[in-house]
Amino acid sequence: MYVGYGMDLGYWGIVIASVILGGFTQAYIQSTYRKWSHVEATAGETGREVARRMLDAEGASAVGITSVEGHLTDFYDPRDNMLHLSEENCEGGSVASVAVACHEAGHAVQTARGYLPGRMRTALVPVVNFAQQIWMIVLIAGLLLDLAGLAQAAIILFALSVVFHLVTLPVEIDASRRAVAYLGHAGTGIDERGARQVLTAAALTYVAAALVSVLQLLYLVGRTSRRQ
Ligand SMILES: [Zn+2]
Repeated sequence: MYVGYGMDLGYWGIVIASVILGGFTQAYIQSTYRKWSHVEATAGETGREVARRMLDAEGASAVGITSVEGHLTDFYDPRDNMLHLSEENCEGGSVASVAVACHEAGHAVQTARGYLPGRMRTALVPVVNFAQQIWMIVLIAGLLLDLAGLAQAAIILFALSVVFHLVTLPVEIDASRRAVAYLGHAGTGIDERGARQVLTAAALTYVAAALVSVLQLLYLVGRTSRRQ
């Protein structure tokens, strides 16, 4: 049996690519966010206030808004139907704050309107959490016992998280599209170019994660098929 699994050039290529991609996208989002956090969006309105108006206008008025600690820790939780906005985006009124707050409102609008990719993503969460916990154990068991079937099962489990990353892309892009569309039409006076830049930078993180997971899957499939 092959014992050097995961220690060859292809493996290290993926590790290095993911570190570089991750570092680049993080630096890009931080610098874009910083740039637009110095530009005021509207006449004294905070991220919370603009997100509130967007939720009410888009049929998601039942959604609540609360603030959380941390930097860029914003998320929408469908379980409590609340936007959890970082303090700077909740109480701040910059282009960056308003863009991020409305992006999260975009996720709440997706849920309110039964947006299909969003529902698929939510349904995948428990499955993917389970698969991520056990795929490596199944793979190692398959290699130790020299059972190709187990190794293939591990790859199918890993493929679920790739599907999750790929489904996440349209969900994130759609939430940003809803935010920019609302900001453009609602007469907020915001610099739309800035909002789009901030949200595009944020989306790159998801593109990078999806790309790395696809590379990992191709690598695993390549290694396993070579063993047979
Ligand atoms: Zn999002």
